[in-house]
Amino acid sequence: MRGWRLPWNAACLCGEVKMTVTAPPVLSAACHCRDCQKLTGGAYSLTLMLPETGFAVVSGAPVIGGLHRAELQHRFCPRCHNWLYTSGAVLPGFVNFRPTLLEDRSWIVPYFETKTAERMPGATTGAKIAYDHWPPPDDFGKLLEGYARDGARPA
Ligand SMILES: [Zn+2]
Ligand SMILES: [Zn+2]
Repeated sequence: MRGWRLPWNAACLCGEVKMTVTAPPVLSAACHCRDCQKLTGGAYSLTLMLPETGFAVVSGAPVIGGLHRAELQHRFCPRCHNWLYTSGAVLPGFVNFRPTLLEDRSWIVPYFETKTAERMPGATTGAKIAYDHWPPPDDFGKLLEGYARDGARPA
């Protein structure tokens, strides 16, 4: 596995929740959807899709926030209320982690971006591939392969 320089440390804004990543991400994306704009308070969200076996909360106890949907849980710091990661039945075996929380996030560039139909004026991400809505299910194989080959790596 080329250049991942694992493990990585991460923390929320206040430092109560600390996390480690010990396995490489399988995808990196930006999402311009309205929900992500509201969840982040910014123009778009950034995600690293991590195998749940390679991700751990090492201190603090994240709580569920966001939309409180049974099938997909948005996890937050209980103190500073940072959005940390998302997990649930629509992501079996994976978590969607917010790479803004990494100690070293200098190398993060999303490989693809979604919901550009809802993009805020001027919001650009550097992604190589863009979808107006969500990627069609048939594209995931191609995205996984492309990211494994060409995705950004730590410097
Ligand atoms: Zn979104
Ligand atoms: Zn916090």
